[in-house]
Amino acid sequence: MRYALSPGALAELARFVQNRPLLAFDIDGTLAPIVSRPWDARVPQTLQEQLSRLAARARVAVLTGRAVADAKGMLGFTPAYLVGNHGAEGVPGGERAAAAFARICSSWLATLADTAEAWRETHGVALEDKVYSLAFHYRHAEDPARARSLILQRVARLDPCPVIIHGKLVVNLLAPGAPHKGDAMMALLAHCGCNRGVYIGDDVTDEDVFRLREPAVLTVRVEHEPGSAADMYVKGQHEVERFVHELNKMVSAPSDNRMASRVSSRAGR
Ligand SMILES: [Mg+2]
Repeated sequence: MRYALSPGALAELARFVQNRPLLAFDIDGTLAPIVSRPWDARVPQTLQEQLSRLAARARVAVLTGRAVADAKGMLGFTPAYLVGNHGAEGVPGGERAAAAFARICSSWLATLADTAEAWRETHGVALEDKVYSLAFHYRHAEDPARARSLILQRVARLDPCPVIIHGKLVVNLLAPGAPHKGDAMMALLAHCGCNRGVYIGDDVTDEDVFRLREPAVLTVRVEHEPGSAADMYVKGQHEVERFVHELNKMVSAPSDNRMASRVSSRAGR
């Protein structure tokens, strides 16, 4: 892993993003500092401004475990793509599959919401309905390890058996066959016709992008982690703004065709 803000890595990055790049970001722990209550998470204003500038110059994507509607409220700019639910929501062309995932989640929810369900007696455990996935939060449980074990025992009996994604004091349930962030990143690259993609994230689910080992995708992890498959790292969330600032300096030409034609028609006058 190379330090992304070293002169050598910045030069490599500058070469990499020269031709129609897709620039993709995770939210929590990447654009927004991790906070103890997820609903309090915010993208800092100065970073929002950097991202708005970037989105006017290049294709910007946001890939998050949050639902799209939730994520939208956190962003002060409109990315070209906003993918939620770890990749299960918002991928162009994936709408029919997403509807099938939603039906499965709805059937799980109906079962789990039953008043006879033992998990409902466990103080500090909450079930979040994200439509295309479900999430059991146990951050506020008195005994988090015991709560997690209880949740895992219960979800193992769901039909169909969910794909489990472990997060920070949360167990995410995804429908079998739901795409992960790596699948979503490749689908977005194909959809936008971009030649190259850069992805930056901080967590286990971002490793699905890092593990692509795809020459067209350059990956950056927030915080150095020796076991990570990412190409580069920044030292912490506090360096993400500087990273976006550097991208802004590298990506100077409008990538949007509409903008490009507007510029050329003006120039032709
Ligand atoms: Mg994250």
